[in-house]
Amino acid sequence: MKRCTLCVMPETYPGITFDSEGVCSFCSKQSGKQPVPSLPKLQAKLDEIIRECKAQNRKYDALVAYSGGKDSTFLIHTLKEKYGLRMLAVTLDNGFMSEASFVNMRKVLNRLNVDHTIVRPRYDLMKQIFLQSSAPEVYPTHLTQFGSGICISCIRIVTNMCLRVAIEKGIPMVMLGNSPGQLIQSENEIIFQDNKIPYELRKHLFKPLAERVGDDVYTVLMLDKDEYRTNPFPYTINAFPIIGYQEDEIYRTIRELGWTKPEDVDPNSTNCRLNSLGIVKHKQVHRFHPYDFEMSLLVRQGIITREEALKRVEDPEEKALRLAEQVEEQLLS
Ligand SMILES: [Zn+2]
Repeated sequence: MKRCTLCVMPETYPGITFDSEGVCSFCSKQSGKQPVPSLPKLQAKLDEIIRECKAQNRKYDALVAYSGGKDSTFLIHTLKEKYGLRMLAVTLDNGFMSEASFVNMRKVLNRLNVDHTIVRPRYDLMKQIFLQSSAPEVYPTHLTQFGSGICISCIRIVTNMCLRVAIEKGIPMVMLGNSPGQLIQSENEIIFQDNKIPYELRKHLFKPLAERVGDDVYTVLMLDKDEYRTNPFPYTINAFPIIGYQEDEIYRTIRELGWTKPEDVDPNSTNCRLNSLGIVKHKQVHRFHPYDFEMSLLVRQGIITREEALKRVEDPEEKALRLAEQVEEQLLS
């Protein structure tokens, strides 16, 4: 398959073109641009929100969405060390996490002395959602360009459940550990309040999934009307573009906290087995890898090398394929 000579974007990606040097249209558009708009302004805003939240003197300053993966492990460590936040770590157990990931979470949180809540929605509902999420008509292309349908559903459930816990416990901000490659680089993806989208419009996004699985999907993918009316509404913050993201530093730091890489996950995940099925299904339907965009963005930002990105999207050992079979069996059982 033809890929961009600078990043790893493939010729099968929707709307892509290549110049005579084999450089993709995403790279040519990006060249010379700052990766994140007005970083100092965002930094100042984050500092101000943290000051404001700490001044409220609540039991917790922040809720951190904790998957047990490398990024959220590093995030929680940094928020503690750099900002001294009092945190509640919240994990969404989707039923398909690597068991090694729970061992990592225990080690890390014991070391950091952070409280932990695990949220585990009904297994039958989760299985049905994941079984149906990769169907081509479930999510629009402007979302599936950046990730698999399975991941889209799961991430929505994670952010939604974290907001719900934050609202219940009066926690003023929710911290997410999306890598800079998972953000499309606009300021309002980095710090925002997730109650601005009209309720009916939001519901509309999940309608195709609800038609396949049932209206129960709304209970995990969305808040209810009263929850959206919470005032003040918690902030959602993707801190990595502000606090910095270097993979070497991340691995070095979290190893010292006792974190080790699980064996039973594909090259694009450090905690979740379901990811492999998301990849395999996405490739069948869309003919490109759901991580092509994210990995290419990380290459353009100098966070990982092109060679490393290629290893993850080409997965020469076909680890994702092998794992996906086991996961699919579990989903259907
Ligand atoms: Zn490119």
